[in-house]
Amino acid sequence: MPKYPNTISSKLPKVGTTIFTVMSALANEHKAINLSQGFPNFNVNERLVSLINQKMKEGLNQYAPMQGVPKLREVLCEKMEKLYGAKYHPDKEVNITSGGTQAIYSALTAVIREGDEVIVIEPAYDCYVPAIELNGGIPIYVQLKAPNHTIDWNDVKKVVTSKTKVIMINTPHNPMGSVMTAKDMHELEKIVGGTNILIISDEVYEHIIFDGQKHESVCKYPVLAERSFIVYSFGKTYHATGWKMGYCFAPENLMAEFRKVHQFIVFTSNTPIQHALADYIKESDDYNELAEFYQKKRDFFLKQIQGSRFKFIPASGSYFQLLDYSAISKEKDTDYAIRLTKENGVASIPTSVFYHKPVDDKLLRFCFAKTDDLLKKAAEKLCAI
Ligand code: GLN
Repeated sequence: MPKYPNTISSKLPKVGTTIFTVMSALANEHKAINLSQGFPNFNVNERLVSLINQKMKEGLNQYAPMQGVPKLREVLCEKMEKLYGAKYHPDKEVNITSGGTQAIYSALTAVIREGDEVIVIEPAYDCYVPAIELNGGIPIYVQLKAPNHTIDWNDVKKVVTSKTKVIMINTPHNPMGSVMTAKDMHELEKIVGGTNILIISDEVYEHIIFDGQKHESVCKYPVLAERSFIVYSFGKTYHATGWKMGYCFAPENLMAEFRKVHQFIVFTSNTPIQHALADYIKESDDYNELAEFYQKKRDFFLKQIQGSRFKFIPASGSYFQLLDYSAISKEKDTDYAIRLTKENGVASIPTSVFYHKPVDDKLLRFCFAKTDDLLKKAAEKLCAI
């Protein structure tokens, strides 16, 4: 071993390997059904795959513009207007990114300075807090309220200070599967209106929302839109999480700062996929079918586990379903998730890891973005417990 450096002081001393990597590895090791890390096990649309292939053959294999391929930015602006009535400028107010996580990191890095406070609603997707801390920001936590995992806006109001720089929101919510309503958006408007507080709105599951509810994007609310970075993901919409492709909308002044950072983090994102997506989205609005597709999966999974000892409230959005195991075990969720993988052959995600302090609400998160056949097999194992 080399003698120097003999110590390095970690910038993230409390952070280990993400739970998704840990649980997927454990699932593989024990040949368990992997409902832990969120990814579909079905294929991407053939037409989209052949478009990518075609773009590669056409020679579109070099750097795309830093902002993203223009025609993709244009179709995304059209989509925002069509779905949410929001007007964004394709050249100045949208950027293609290498996934949602990178968009969130770039947005936080663009705006957070040492000592700025960022309000994080817990449980929170695991990339938020490290990105805040790496930028010298201070996460300020507010917890969702059981049993439906809704936001108590009085709790949020109480923690707003003159140092609050950003409020981070996520709807549909990962890991809880709850969704924000129009009322939530109005409450948020009341808090941020007339302040300099920014919003980072993680809307990567925008199309996966159930029981007739409509996705409430911050872009529909002018007081919110004028201060928001909105993050989306092609991976979730097109069953292609491994492409690591996403995008971010923000008003011109915010997007200008986002780009200053983005260009030195990744510079740009995959070129042929951008060209293919531009053509595909132009010719198809099949994202409108996603809610029904996943609602069927949710219902199928829940029907299969009806007779089990797990309790549940059906997810309102996202492709995650929480199961309450309090009637089965008193173990901590991290321990139970490991045992469930090793002994019962089903991997899930313990939800306590998404909090900064220990919680023990005995909830595991299961990804139902899987073929019915696999969901059925997993449910049989869960019912046998
Ligand atoms: N978003 C995916 C999930 O919630 C995981 C992504 C990752 O592995 N980092 O499971």
